[in-house]
Amino acid sequence: MSLKKASELTEGGIITEAGNASEYKTGDWRTFVPEFVVENCIQCLFCWIYCPDSAIAVDLSGEKPEVTGIILEHCKGCGICAAECPPVKKGKAALVMVREAK
Ligand code: SF4
Ligand code: SF4
Repeated sequence: MSLKKASELTEGGIITEAGNASEYKTGDWRTFVPEFVVENCIQCLFCWIYCPDSAIAVDLSGEKPEVTGIILEHCKGCGICAAECPPVKKGKAALVMVREAK
């Protein structure tokens, strides 16, 4: 891939095409990653609401939306989803942050 010249770059902070964030794979610099334990999930969708990167995978094909996991290409490892995930299954939460193996 050849580098762009300065004159070819867009100015900082300008979004030239609305809704193009999904094209940018930005999940490779995190240190921690959420681990999804499906049997502890009560499908409250708090993680989906709070995730700042739309990195929660949700299946919309059924009667109700259902969290199915984490989209690691976009997850930054911020831990907000795990902080909001309620530990209601015998004190265990469905999302727990763990150090990512590199
Ligand atoms: S760690 Fe942060 S970016 Fe990753 S899924 Fe959770 S809230 Fe989203
Ligand atoms: S916040 Fe936790 S319990 Fe609620 S949907 Fe997300 S993973 Fe499941």
